[in-house]
Amino acid sequence: MRSIKKFKHKHIVSHTPKNKMSESASLAWLIENGIVLSISYAKSLVDYKVVTHTGIPDLLRSILVSVSNLALIECILILQYVLIRTVYSGIEPHSKGASRPVHVASCTLTVHLPVNLISMTVATLIFGTDGMDTVSHPATEAFAWSSWEWAANYALYRMVYDVAFYALHFTMHRLPRVYAMVHSTHHIHRSTDLTTNFQFTAVDLFVEGMLTNFVAMMPILLVNDYVPYFPLVVFATYAEWYQIGSHAHQRIPAVTALPPIAPIYNSTLAKRFRPTCLRTHDAVRFHADHHKKVKGNYGITPWMDWLFGTMVIETGLKKAE
Ligand SMILES: [Zn+2]
Ligand SMILES: [Zn+2]
Repeated sequence: MRSIKKFKHKHIVSHTPKNKMSESASLAWLIENGIVLSISYAKSLVDYKVVTHTGIPDLLRSILVSVSNLALIECILILQYVLIRTVYSGIEPHSKGASRPVHVASCTLTVHLPVNLISMTVATLIFGTDGMDTVSHPATEAFAWSSWEWAANYALYRMVYDVAFYALHFTMHRLPRVYAMVHSTHHIHRSTDLTTNFQFTAVDLFVEGMLTNFVAMMPILLVNDYVPYFPLVVFATYAEWYQIGSHAHQRIPAVTALPPIAPIYNSTLAKRFRPTCLRTHDAVRFHADHHKKVKGNYGITPWMDWLFGTMVIETGLKKAE
């Protein structure tokens, strides 16, 4: 009798009607890239208005820029939540959701807000007071770099970002005291959903969310004579979109590959050139497995773990001990 009930339940679940739009990779590509570019443009425009407004002291300008950064992050979270509930509602979930409820409002006020305010204000004061005077309208800055410069700088940013994230995250796991004090709070969620983005200590959020981004921007600032503000916002927004989405309880199609080049990255030809274990990888599942095992999959993309043999595969840990 019990087995019949189980069978019936399985039978019903496997025949749940699917949302057809969920299966469209090109629609996902259009939506996700459109959102990232639109909110990057909106943030850049707000920042441009703030920094070019005469009579505002540097400290207040920096605070307003950090507030717009917090708004961008919260906006990503809301939009991914809406996408999961609507366009992507037919995608099979990896899990039932976060293993412990979080207080979103209190974490926003006690962790997200102070981390954003302090780190962005300090960074803007250190690097930005002179640079702020060179910020132009994003519509102009979008064409300040050629397509080649956009692509080369984004590739550089992503490579450094992935290395920095892997190194910092790996270190937090390997130093027991640091893990206990800084990162173990994030791993209270052995099963994840978007609310896991509110399961952080302040130091952890600074290291994983802010420091990685600052490190990745350094080479761009060093190798270019002129760096427009808008592309930096776009690169950081793509990283945030990717990182926030990696905690979803289901696949987010364009997060699963590198968003702007998802169609190329996921093409049959490109898959042939990837190592066998990376031909069908799913970036969201990849990070979900990190939370499940609390070992391995330290990168935000799988490439660093593949290189250093710390990748978790479905059957268990592979060289991650
Ligand atoms: Zn971790
Ligand atoms: Zn995580």
